[in-house]
Amino acid sequence: MDAPKQVVNFGPGPTKLPRSVLLLELQKELLDYKGVGISVLEMSHRSSDFGKIIGNTENLVRELLAVRDNYKGIVMQGGGCGQFAAVPLNLIGLKAGRCADYVVTGSWLAKAAEEAKKFGTVNVVHPKLGSYTKIPDPGSWTLNPEASYVYFCANETVHGVQFDFIPDVKGAVLVCDMSSNFLSKPVDVSKFGVIFAGAHKNVGCAGVTVVIVREDLLGFALRECPSVLEYKVQAANSSLYNTPPCFSIYVMGLVLEWIKNNGGAASMEKLSSIKSKMIYDIIDKSQGFYVCPVEPQNRSRMNISFRIGSAKGDDALEKRFLDKALELSMISLKGHRSVRGIRVSL
Ligand SMILES: *Cc1c(COP(=O)(O)O)cnc(C)c1O
Repeated sequence: MDAPKQVVNFGPGPTKLPRSVLLLELQKELLDYKGVGISVLEMSHRSSDFGKIIGNTENLVRELLAVRDNYKGIVMQGGGCGQFAAVPLNLIGLKAGRCADYVVTGSWLAKAAEEAKKFGTVNVVHPKLGSYTKIPDPGSWTLNPEASYVYFCANETVHGVQFDFIPDVKGAVLVCDMSSNFLSKPVDVSKFGVIFAGAHKNVGCAGVTVVIVREDLLGFALRECPSVLEYKVQAANSSLYNTPPCFSIYVMGLVLEWIKNNGGAASMEKLSSIKSKMIYDIIDKSQGFYVCPVEPQNRSRMNISFRIGSAKGDDALEKRFLDKALELSMISLKGHRSVRGIRVSL
């Protein structure tokens, strides 16, 4: 087989997977998983072999984030957007008023808040932002004491805005979308009611979403919540209520193993800090040639979004940048269509 073309893939997701995972293990095991004689693609989700795969994957998430026993780790389908509905379906009924607080710091949160409105009342806790370039000062938030939960996004993938702190929500149930920075740093899971992350941004390929949910929050789903989206049902069935995305779970397990073998979340944090600093330094020393509008303390270490030529961007220069990058086999650097410019996902 020819060696694959070497490119540097800066796509936000689905994204680069560690070569050692992809090339060595996936390829080696594709036709015959560990001598079982069949591929994971063909394997029953009720088989003991797959049971080990999904169990191992869950254990790795628990180990890498030091998840305590009072949390369930489940995997679901439907991606991040599926969770935009699953979160309110499972949790907005926690309190009688059926309302929830949303911290809207980027387009994913705006979408999540819109979805949640189908199931209850949504309170955006801060005045509407003119642009997504910072985390609004928590001192300015008006949390509703009757809210069933407070929902935020740890890293807004499109605009490159990242929380540099865990919000203090005065004991309310905290829900976090960590899709695009999951396992890029250690996190104190005990501060959260629910953490979810679509695997294809940081820890695998498309098809599987990790949900970590505190046990005492199970059992409050709205009557109309589909069973496949109900945390309690999935937890009670070890994520095997119906056929899960077996192969995507297996790939995620391999990536988690790779993270573990490479020093875990703390080591990923160091690497992401070094990598992102290299790029932000170039931006900051470019005397306005490269412009990143995000406030320094909220700059994402995962998705670096910037314009070239001026704050508004110069289309011709940006096209030239992308063309030259392609000549160097650097791909997927084009900014999100809503923001334009350049986005480097690390
Ligand atoms: C990509 C992304 C989503 C949506 O994920 P899908 O799996 O495409 O539904 C949600 N939240 C964040 C932060 C994302 O980066």
